[in-house]
Amino acid sequence: MSVTTRFAPSPTGRIHVGNIRTALHNWLFARQQGGRFLLRIDDTDRERSEERFVEAIRNDLTWLGLDWDGEERQSARFAAYEARFDALRQSGRLYPCYETPQELDLKRKIQLGRGLPPVYDRSALQLTDAERARLESEGVRPHWRFRLDHDAPIAWHDLIRGDQRFDPKLMSDPVVRRADGSWLYLLPSVIDDIDLGITHVVRGEDHVSNTAAQVQMFEALGATPPGFAHEALLTGAEGKLSKRLGATDVDHWRETGIEPLALAAKLARIGTSLAVEPVAAMEKLIDSFDFATFGRAPARFDEAELARLNAQTVHLLRFDQVRDRLPAGMNARAWEAVRPNLERVADAADWWAVVEGPVSATIDDQDRGYLQQAADAAGEIDWGGDPWHALTGLLKERTGRKGKPLFLPLRRALTGRDHGPDMAALLPLIGRERALERLAAAHG
Ligand code: GLU
Repeated sequence: MSVTTRFAPSPTGRIHVGNIRTALHNWLFARQQGGRFLLRIDDTDRERSEERFVEAIRNDLTWLGLDWDGEERQSARFAAYEARFDALRQSGRLYPCYETPQELDLKRKIQLGRGLPPVYDRSALQLTDAERARLESEGVRPHWRFRLDHDAPIAWHDLIRGDQRFDPKLMSDPVVRRADGSWLYLLPSVIDDIDLGITHVVRGEDHVSNTAAQVQMFEALGATPPGFAHEALLTGAEGKLSKRLGATDVDHWRETGIEPLALAAKLARIGTSLAVEPVAAMEKLIDSFDFATFGRAPARFDEAELARLNAQTVHLLRFDQVRDRLPAGMNARAWEAVRPNLERVADAADWWAVVEGPVSATIDDQDRGYLQQAADAAGEIDWGGDPWHALTGLLKERTGRKGKPLFLPLRRALTGRDHGPDMAALLPLIGRERALERLAAAHG
């Protein structure tokens, strides 16, 4: 069986870390299995869905490095929903209901007051044809419920949660269509999953009770339900997914210099028994993906940890992965020289500015004589090999300095800073001419 998964966002806003995680897991599983990953735009809500969000979702997935093998839109599939709706109505699995929201609310309150579960009492099923005709003639439009089969216990083996059992008698028959004809999410999603050949539905555990109802919908439509994996929800460092994190979109990560690979490495592994570790390519995350490693406890998303993982990720990136984002002229050698000192790729530009100059250095008076000797030595050494070791070796011999007094004045004069990338890597980039200039300026 070849695997097909889908990511099914509603284009009513930007996607946040929770959605990204779901998308990523669907993608990782499909890629690992050599299967297909589809993007399904859940835009049945025509008022709240916006084209700019569809565009943003595509861009966000692309930035993250996720590609998809097909795109579907629910708004283009109303005819398919209508056909299944008619079939289910004829087979008696859908029935019209005429209660107002106020009436339903009152029923619930009475049940709760009696200590009963607030399950819909199916009174609409008791209506006679004449009563229905009267309601219709009064202009009351029905909403539609899916009649759960009370004799068929609902069970599935969840790839994360293990064996799941639901008693349909304790569930309300779900509303699938509103009085104005618009669709709720449950039934169209099942119809799409059947028509698109979805083999695995991977989503948050907030959907578990939806799944219970949907399992019966698959069966009522003559289909075998797909596999399900419901993942524990994501929480912020403080215990729940904060409003802020829930409202944080991909632009935020991009603008603060978070690498897509760092975000993916984090979201692929938090909440699993695998270690969160930096990766230089998605392959590693694809290879190690395994539902069996997913825990049941909420996964904690800590932004400070993400920042650290980001720096470690940057240290692994190859030149060809970042060249488009580096300043003009910066080559692979320069990237490798500064990479270990970066927290974000964009900071490479600061070090490139140090290489190219000008730099302004504050020099202690007591170092001026030493820097004079350094300028002389720099004029004598061979710049073709390892000029830093050649220079410091010669100066050590001539001045007897060692350690910090030997190195720090040179670093200051050559870079204008006290800290930074390994001078052995940086000095060849600065080069003879600029180094001599900077040393001369420092002792002058
Ligand atoms: N549009 C639904 C949501 O975002 C899709 C859920 C599903 O994966 O079936 O919650």
